[in-house]
Amino acid sequence: MSYAQSEVDVFIDVPKLNEAVARLGAQITRDYQGKEITVIAIMKGALPFAMDLLRNINGPVSLEVLGCSSYQGTETTGEVRITYDVTKPLAGRHLLVVEDIIDTGLTMKFLLENLQARHPASIKVCTLLEKPSRAKTKVQIDYKGLVIEDKFVVGYGLDFDEKYRNLPYIGVIKGTD
Ligand code: 5GP
Repeated sequence: MSYAQSEVDVFIDVPKLNEAVARLGAQITRDYQGKEITVIAIMKGALPFAMDLLRNINGPVSLEVLGCSSYQGTETTGEVRITYDVTKPLAGRHLLVVEDIIDTGLTMKFLLENLQARHPASIKVCTLLEKPSRAKTKVQIDYKGLVIEDKFVVGYGLDFDEKYRNLPYIGVIKGTD
């Protein structure tokens, strides 16, 4: 048994993730015909998903990464800060924000307000996972991979204390379910 299997139960396996990513890529390809997309991958959690998604978009794409983190203990206020910003101006571009999971929605609300202020031509949101039962604010989600119940998940970019980002599947840490 691998290190990961001994600590994390599989919740969404690799074939199911691949299927979701392929479906999202096909939808995005269809919707953006004739337009160049600027993908904004939110660090660190969304990186594996964003890279797989890029390979499933059949059209011109440029890639930016943006790091953000919530101030500790301020989940309710949704106070978020940008820890690493994009390197190119976003004015006039078609932005596709790619996130790993939308939980309370407060991070995405902050990001959308921040990005909107940079005058893009359009902004859409793609998230691999959504936990609607935890929503504290309504946020726009244009492309949604999978809806999950209120569980703390790790793997495929998602961490617990920086661990488990390298798992190829989404799982739940044993004993926490
Ligand atoms: P929100 O602002 O929507 O509450 O939270 C979004 C961020 O919280 C995600 O980008 C992610 O970093 C973290 N998060 C929310 N739920 C989970 C989870 O189940 N597992 C992990 N590893 N991170 C989560």
